[in-house]
Amino acid sequence: IGIAFADRQDSETVVLPTDLCHQADTALRHAKLDRNTYRYHTPDLGDLGMSKLQYFNYLRQAIDRHELSLHFQPQVNQDGRVISAEALLRWNNPVLGSVPPSEFIPIAEEAGLIIPIGDWVIERACAELVHWQSIGLNIPLAINISPRQLKDSRLEYQLLSRLRKYGLRAESLHLEITESSLIADTGNTMKVLQSLSRAGFIMSIDDFGTGYANLAWLKLLPVSTLKIDRSFVVDLPTNEQDIAVVQAIVSIAKCRGMNTIAEGVDSSAQLDLLLAADCHIIQGFFYSRPLPSADFITYALSKVA
Ligand code: C2E
Ligand code: MG
Ligand code: MG
Repeated sequence: IGIAFADRQDSETVVLPTDLCHQADTALRHAKLDRNTYRYHTPDLGDLGMSKLQYFNYLRQAIDRHELSLHFQPQVNQDGRVISAEALLRWNNPVLGSVPPSEFIPIAEEAGLIIPIGDWVIERACAELVHWQSIGLNIPLAINISPRQLKDSRLEYQLLSRLRKYGLRAESLHLEITESSLIADTGNTMKVLQSLSRAGFIMSIDDFGTGYANLAWLKLLPVSTLKIDRSFVVDLPTNEQDIAVVQAIVSIAKCRGMNTIAEGVDSSAQLDLLLAADCHIIQGFFYSRPLPSADFITYALSKVA
């Protein structure tokens, strides 16, 4: 039962019956979520007035309540074949609806929840890879590693113990690390990356070009791929400056023996320019949006190398 009172409202505001119904409905959804038999509407429960604490609590409960899922976006080579995929987190909450990762990942970082959530992603990604391999889909899966996870001394152990549990090789789980997380705390980050590389993990720098990475330092990083940020792709093929940036990133990658993946490619004109610039791995809506497991498998099996 969800309960809302007209006389509890701020005396300055006029309460419409529809507002009351909406508030009672919100309280009802909270009652269901908390497995209570009834809940009163309080100002905290309003869509805009929700307290941070409440939001943290929802996020904290998201794993146990099976509200998180992974979607998979294909990474496609110049022949149109799916050669790998990126796992992207989705959060669907009964009250908040579908919350984009750009909104909840920073909050998970702030609340210290990114470690358990990141651990859940590692677990699910490994389970997914085992499923793919069992049906003959032998491609690697990239997961996003947040700056906080990279600083956590248990990361490598968590990754290796999951791989062992699922009988997987480190090469099958690629790690995407944002350029911005590489800039902070350079000394220790380098050691962590070198250790992960020795353990066999293949790493890429995500959102490359947005974080002002030190190019001399880049030479020392054990990463195999630069992911060209979507902001440089969106205005292709007309924006001359962006064309120059894309060409520069591809040249840097080439002379360091790295690959490039372009993100956010959603038109054939962008695709043509990127291929002409020698960027041969493409990710974006032009090929496919991130898809739930079954849809991704159907797509990938029809276009696998
Ligand atoms: P990202 O790792 O750079 O992921 C690429 C984002 O671009 C995804 O957004 C994807 O859906 C979107 N995208 C791909 N192709 C296109 C396109 O053609 N057009 C447009 N407009 N967008 C495209 P998404 O899924 O909303 O994820 C946003 C960010 O959230 C990710 O950026 C990543 O930084 C973070 N994130 C997502 N999942 C995880 C996770 O499991 N762990 C961590 N730490 N971060 C995650
Ligand atoms: Mg990524
Ligand atoms: Mg990115």
